[in-house]
Amino acid sequence: MTATQNFVIEAPTSLEELWMPFTANKAFKQSPRLLGASQGMYYTSVDGRSILDGAAGLWCVNAGHGREPIVRAIAETAANLDFAPAFQMGHPLSFRLATEVAKLMPGDIDHLFFANSGSEAVDSALKIALAYWRARGKPERVRFVGRQRAYHGVGFGGISVGGIPFTREAFAAQLLPQVDHLPHTHGIAENYFSRGQPLHGAQRADELETIVAKRGAETIAAVIVEPVAGSTGVLVPPVGYLERLRAICDRHGILLIFDEVITGFGRTGAAFASQRFGVMPDMMTIAKGLTNGAVPMGAVGVRHEIYETVVNATPAGIEFFHGYTYSGHPLASAAGLATLKVYKDEGLFERAAELAPYWEDAVHSLRGLPHVIDIRNIGLVAGIELESREGKPGARGLDALIACFNEGLLIRVTGDIIALSPPLIIEKGQVDHLVEVLSGVIRELQ
Ligand code: PLP
Repeated sequence: MTATQNFVIEAPTSLEELWMPFTANKAFKQSPRLLGASQGMYYTSVDGRSILDGAAGLWCVNAGHGREPIVRAIAETAANLDFAPAFQMGHPLSFRLATEVAKLMPGDIDHLFFANSGSEAVDSALKIALAYWRARGKPERVRFVGRQRAYHGVGFGGISVGGIPFTREAFAAQLLPQVDHLPHTHGIAENYFSRGQPLHGAQRADELETIVAKRGAETIAAVIVEPVAGSTGVLVPPVGYLERLRAICDRHGILLIFDEVITGFGRTGAAFASQRFGVMPDMMTIAKGLTNGAVPMGAVGVRHEIYETVVNATPAGIEFFHGYTYSGHPLASAAGLATLKVYKDEGLFERAAELAPYWEDAVHSLRGLPHVIDIRNIGLVAGIELESREGKPGARGLDALIACFNEGLLIRVTGDIIALSPPLIIEKGQVDHLVEVLSGVIRELQ
C-alpha cells in the first residue's frame, strides 16, 4: 500500500476514555459522529458514508484532503529526521519554511516564531509584544486590548484577550488582569445580509480612543483582533474599520496584531486578510492552513523592527525566554513547505478569489428560508445565522450540524450560526450540492 492509498479507519471498541475537547461528551458518546478517512473534498464516515467537507475540517484543510505532495513530505521526513531539538540547535526545514512564509506575508513582516497551534501562536505574540516594549525601554507598556466575540484560542493569554463568555467565565478568577475589550462589530441592523464587507460600523473602532484615554497610551502594549472573526460566526469587518484601528494604533504607538489563524492562506481570497483588506499589522498569528491541517503548527510573523529590537537588546545569550519542544518540528515544517508549494502551484488563493462571487450568490440563495436571520460572506467563507429557539440557544444550530452530517455534509456551527469554509479546491457543482443539502436541512429544522 502506498502512503496515498485510502482506507477507512475502523470504529474504536470504546469511546469512554477519551475526554473530547469543546464537545458535549455524554451526548456525543451516545450518538457518535466518527470520520475514518479523507480525500479531496470528502471525508468518509466509519460506516462508509461520503461526507462533503464544508468546513475544511476545522478551517484548516485549504488545499483539500490527502494531498500527495504533503503526504509524501511528511512520510519522507518522518523516516529521515523524526525530531530535532529546537533550542540552541536547528534543522534546515524550519529555516526554509520561515523563509517561504515570510515571502507570503505583507510588508516587512519577515521573521517567524514557530509554535504548535493557534493558541500557542497567540500567547507567543502577546509575549513578543511585552518583550518588544521592554527592549525599547518602555516596560510599562503591558496592557492588551482585545475585542468582544473574539476567539484567540484557549491559553490563558488567548482567553484573556478573547471575548467569548463561555471560554472566559469558568476561568475568570485567573485571567490576565490588564486587558480591555473593544465592542464587536456585529448586530447592526443595516448590515444584515451584506455581501462582502458591511457598510456600517467603522466607528466602533473609535472605542479604542476611549480605552486609550482611560488607561493612557503609554500603558498599552498591543491590540489584537481577528480581521474576520471566524469562530464566533464569521463577522466580516465593516468598510473602513480595520483602517481606523490601524490609524489609532499608529497615533498612540500601539502594536496591532492580526490573528489570522482562520483568515490566513487564501480563505479571504488573498494570502492573508491583511492583504485582502489592505491593512498592515505589526504581527500576525497563523496556524491551521499553514500545514493544511496535516501536522499541528502555529507561528507568529513579526515586522523586521520587532525582531531586531528584541534580539539586539541582549548583548549576548538567549534574547527571548520562550519556545516549545516542538517549535518548527521537522514533520510540521515539511508539511508546511509542501503545503505552500501546493497553494502556489495550483494558484489556490487566486482560485478562492475567482470563486468568491459564485460562492456569495450560492450562500445568499438561502435567504428567506425559515429561521435564517442573517447571511454574511467574504472570500470562501460564509456565516448563516439562525434564530435561536426560545430559551435554548445553540439547540437549533446543533440540530443543523447533526442533520447535515446525516445527509453527508460537514458544517461547523457556533451557537446557532452555521459557518461554512470549504477547502479552496471546491468545484462549483460541489458548492451547489452543499447549498442544496443545507437548504433541505434548514427547511426541516424545528
Ligand atoms: N485564533 C483564532 C482566530 C482561531 O480561530 C483559533 C482556532 O480556531 C485559534 C486562535 C486557536 O487555534 P488552536 O485551536 O490551533 O489552538
